[in-house]
Amino acid sequence: MNPYLQPLIQLQTLDLRIMEIKEQQRKAPALIEAAEAPLRDAVRLLTELTSAVEAQTKERRDRERDLEIHESQTEKLRARLSELKTNKEYQAHLFEIEMANKRKGEIEEQILLLMERVEKGQQELRQAQARKTEAEQRSTKEKARLEAVSAGLVSELAELEQKRKASVALLDSKLLERYKKLKAARKDLAVAPLRGGICFGCRLQLPPQLVAEVKRSDELQSCTYCQRILYWDGEPLPVPAATTEPVESPDDLKETV
Ligand SMILES: [Zn+2]
Repeated sequence: MNPYLQPLIQLQTLDLRIMEIKEQQRKAPALIEAAEAPLRDAVRLLTELTSAVEAQTKERRDRERDLEIHESQTEKLRARLSELKTNKEYQAHLFEIEMANKRKGEIEEQILLLMERVEKGQQELRQAQARKTEAEQRSTKEKARLEAVSAGLVSELAELEQKRKASVALLDSKLLERYKKLKAARKDLAVAPLRGGICFGCRLQLPPQLVAEVKRSDELQSCTYCQRILYWDGEPLPVPAATTEPVESPDDLKETV
């Protein structure tokens, strides 16, 4: 077997895993963000309910103060009743007191309504508090899990980088350059297995002569179509007919237009 082939395959395996890890690391902040979202919602709801209850409590106190002022005014009206001289004045004054009593009833009704609202608000507040606590626990747990995964990725990445260095050291610089170019041009797959006469990089059938050379593996061989470096990967496997047909390239398509 060509001495470069195994390190090359190893290098690609490492590079693919490194890429996978980096992709996961890129997505990590979004996952943490998502884990915090339910808690943020719960906190917002709690804040809204708290200020609503506070506003209603303040309004209730204001109405109670209104009631006190109103009652002292009504008290003054009643006290003046005895000072009145004519019946007409007396009747007018009685009417005023009656109106004041009616107003008192209205204020009392408002207070009662506000007390009910405050009570309901406080009940909602307790529920929201419980939901917030629950969301907090879930978020903490999920973030701890994500952090553990992230720490695992960091140490795996460090290990892979070490192994990568070792693989790179086994390759000559020209071959490494070729690998890099192919990797960039061929969607990160520079080395492809050959199975059943088919290059698994481009899925095209290769000439039997090339297949035989790849199987012998004395020299590094490239795919006729995609130029990927080929390695023998076991005995032929049944392959669906469709994948053995050459795919039309964009240039072929242009010619038919
Ligand atoms: Zn190919």
